Amino acid sequence: MRLEEEQIELIESDMSATNVQRANPWKLLIVDDDQEVHDATRFALQNVRVLDRPLQLIDAYSAVEAGSILAIQTDIAVILLDVVMESPDAGLQLVQRIRQEFHLDDVRIILRTGQPGSAPELKVIREYDINDYKTKAELTHTRLVTALIAAIRSYEQLRSLRDNRHGLELIVEAAARLLQAQDVAGFAKCTLRQLALLLHQTEDGLICMRDEIAHGVEQDTLRVVAAAGKFSATPGQPADQLNAPDITAVLHECVTRMTHIFMPLHTALYLRCGAHEAVAILPHEKSLAGVARQLLETFAANLTACYGNVIMLERLNFLAYHDPLTQLPNRIRFVNDLDAAGAMAPQGQAACLFDVDRFTDINNALGHEIGDQLLIAIARRLVKALPECRVARIGADRFGLIGPETALNPERLLQVLQEPFPADEQQLQITVTTGFCRISERVCGETLFKHTDIAFNQTRMNPHSLPQYFSPDMAEHTHWRLEVLRHLRRDFRDGWLSVWYQPQVSLADDNIVGLEALARWPATRGFAQPPTVFIPLAEESHLIIDIGAWVLEQSCLTWRRLQATGHAPSRIAVNVSMPQVRMPDFPDKVLHTLERYSMPPAALEIEITESLLLKEPLTVSRNLQALRREGIQITIDDFGTGYSSLNYLRELPADCIKIDRSFVREIDYGRGDLFAETIVTLAHKLGAEVVAEGVDTPEQVTCLRQLGCDIAQGYLYAKPMPAEELANWIGQRRVH
Ligand code: C2E
Ligand code: MG
Ligand code: MG
Repeated sequence: MRLEEEQIELIESDMSATNVQRANPWKLLIVDDDQEVHDATRFALQNVRVLDRPLQLIDAYSAVEAGSILAIQTDIAVILLDVVMESPDAGLQLVQRIRQEFHLDDVRIILRTGQPGSAPELKVIREYDINDYKTKAELTHTRLVTALIAAIRSYEQLRSLRDNRHGLELIVEAAARLLQAQDVAGFAKCTLRQLALLLHQTEDGLICMRDEIAHGVEQDTLRVVAAAGKFSATPGQPADQLNAPDITAVLHECVTRMTHIFMPLHTALYLRCGAHEAVAILPHEKSLAGVARQLLETFAANLTACYGNVIMLERLNFLAYHDPLTQLPNRIRFVNDLDAAGAMAPQGQAACLFDVDRFTDINNALGHEIGDQLLIAIARRLVKALPECRVARIGADRFGLIGPETALNPERLLQVLQEPFPADEQQLQITVTTGFCRISERVCGETLFKHTDIAFNQTRMNPHSLPQYFSPDMAEHTHWRLEVLRHLRRDFRDGWLSVWYQPQVSLADDNIVGLEALARWPATRGFAQPPTVFIPLAEESHLIIDIGAWVLEQSCLTWRRLQATGHAPSRIAVNVSMPQVRMPDFPDKVLHTLERYSMPPAALEIEITESLLLKEPLTVSRNLQALRREGIQITIDDFGTGYSSLNYLRELPADCIKIDRSFVREIDYGRGDLFAETIVTLAHKLGAEVVAEGVDTPEQVTCLRQLGCDIAQGYLYAKPMPAEELANWIGQRRVH
């Protein structure tokens, strides 16, 4: 072969030794049983570089030897292969092994043969993807090098296609993994891992985000969300505080220019989704070019889509577990936190639930916007003043707390909530009703919540007692109450309840002037309780709204029937409870019922208890005033047993006041007339009538008459009775 006869183009052959060493060489396997061919090839290719890279020649003297080299070295670019060696077709058999056994599909093969007659068939050349077939004589120096360049080029193209395909496969796989991320932190960690896989390097890099919901608070600085490798940054750390000015500078440039930045040793990928933006900083050993860069750009496009996805997921998660108004965890999250607290078998931890007293009034009087501002202010105060506690908003005006008893106790909570809260331009002072529960080992979240709620209800039912801590006997009591309520619901639904009526008699002329309607739960089904037990339960569960409406209807019906027989007294009194009166449509409902039974409003008297007035005075008085304007009489029941009644009497003018049974009973002991007298005088000064309840002795009647009391109601005259007995009773009394 005349190896040095022609000029070689396209090849730089004057590279310095250092460069040759540094660049990654193309591996060339020479397979030939003739030493001379090896030498000549080696000589012809010395100092040859292809595509800016040197060559590394490997020698094999038989197909078998070549096979064992190829089994280990999988990155050989080109094989110069003799056809005839151990056997006439040893070379061709090796080709078959290369493609089918070793699965080396990229390596380019140039067949060389000394004997022109032993040319392989075209079929073999096609089947085994042979690059070139030359007789040795044909392979002059120039031809050899040109064939080699073509082969290496084609090898490189195949490799880069394969890399590309592999890279794209990785990207698709990475996208699948990234789509599984549940939150931005998980997404960021996964991104670093996938980037390392894509660039075939160990995990290294940093991901920063400017993300208003990442930690539930607004952020305007870039913060680290994930870091790996040489970056020892901690999640949450502001990017400005990284101890790496060059990285901080790249981050800022990336965000300012809103684009990826490729630098020799770093790549900064820019991701944006609405108001959220993120930068991934990726260090690498050498400048990224060609395929790697293209892949990275494709990957970044995918990342952006996944980023948008995870932000949406996080937002959904946030909404599922947080209250949008205060941004505090919601009830579901609170119960989960209680669950976690219970599972940790803690010492000295407590849970607390509290309601803002008269919140409905604040809302109605000052508007919902102020109400919202108040709730936000309370949330902020709690988070700030009780950093040891987890704070949640459980319902409208209800908050929940979990924390160490040293910080979470009635005294401390009271102290924290004592200062007024700013809402719009006002300063609002609030009081709260609380319930506490010590968190004990292995009690699940739902149970802890229930226990705290039981304690809360205990405090609520005794508004003047100290805040209650849960105790097991409370739970037993609750269990019993729930059982009663279950039966009550069923019996009410099935129509087993009834309304009885107790007459009211004028002390001036003994005439029947009124009736009080009283709900009864007869023991028809073997389960019954007196109104003093079932009415409070119905009130708590709001079943009273339905029961109350039904009692009113029954009363109207009874009044109409009595009227038809000429026995109707001038009015009928119906007791109403808090949950009824605070319904915005309460006045409409009452008026509508009266209309349906053609009962004049003046024939209806509504009895409310003083304690009821205490809770939401504004809402209650607004609704009652509306009814009063229609001519319905408003009576304050059980007067004297509540608190600060005088104050409320000023706000809600009543038409009638009922002296509680306990004061009437005092008369028998010779002490009570002072109270009774005071009430009568007060009522008359306010222009209200007075009814004495529970009158059961003639002495009481005499005394009450002397005091100027207007009406009496009690066993002395009649016990409450069913409607059917009533007409009889009235008729008989008229005869006497
Ligand atoms: P209240 O409105 O103060 O009703 C008067 C209570 O005193 C009734 O008890 C009546 O039976 C009882 N009473 C009347 N005269 C005498 C007497 O001379 N001696 C004694 N010892 N008791 C007398 P009752 O029917 O057990 O009702 C208890 C409470 O349950 C009522 O007190 C009222 O607050 C409530 N209630 C009853 N029915 C209803 C209703 O339909 N709706 C609402 N919201 N509450 C009701
Ligand atoms: Mg009453
Ligand atoms: Mg009463």
